[in-house]
Amino acid sequence: MSISVMKDMFGDVIPKRDSGLLDCAYNYLLSYGYINFGVALAIKSRIPIEPSKGRAIFIGAGLLGLVATMQLMLFGFEVIVLEGRKRAGGRVCTKKDGRREQGGSY
Ligand SMILES: Cc1cc2nc3c(=O)[nH]c(=O)nc-3n(C[C@H](O)[C@H](O)[C@H](O)COP(=O)(O)OP(=O)(O)OC[C@H]3O[C@@H](n4cnc5c(N)ncnc54)[C@H](O)[C@@H]3O)c2cc1C
Repeated sequence: MSISVMKDMFGDVIPKRDSGLLDCAYNYLLSYGYINFGVALAIKSRIPIEPSKGRAIFIGAGLLGLVATMQLMLFGFEVIVLEGRKRAGGRVCTKKDGRREQGGSY
């Protein structure tokens, strides 16, 4: 994530009388992870742009793989993650059809 979408960015284009609609749309997008989702800016800004420590390959994009990859990138490694499934997250999966996270269900 490189830019956070904030409600006040739309102040010029959404009339004040529609602020309730803006709240509703913004909260929907936020709560379902359609916006402002990813590595927080505070962490991303600390990852070196040019890796200097060599390369690493991590097998599995579960929580362990994602956290270890982020840590290795913070240390300056270039990391390739190999995942056998079509999605990241491993045993943790967030369903977007409701406000729930299905820990350990897969
Ligand atoms: C029923 C259940 C309920 C749980 N509830 C909770 C909870 O409430 N709170 C909590 O904190 N934890 C919970 N956990 C535990 C939590 O889900 C796991 O500890 C955590 O997700 C493990 O993360 P991981 O990255 O180690 O492994 P995984 O999530 O298993 O990720 C491993 C990844 O590696 C991939 N992979 C494996 N082999 C290969 C290969 N050869 N090549 C390529 N990719 C490969 C897999 O596809 C997977 O994506 C629960 C677990 C279960 C089973």
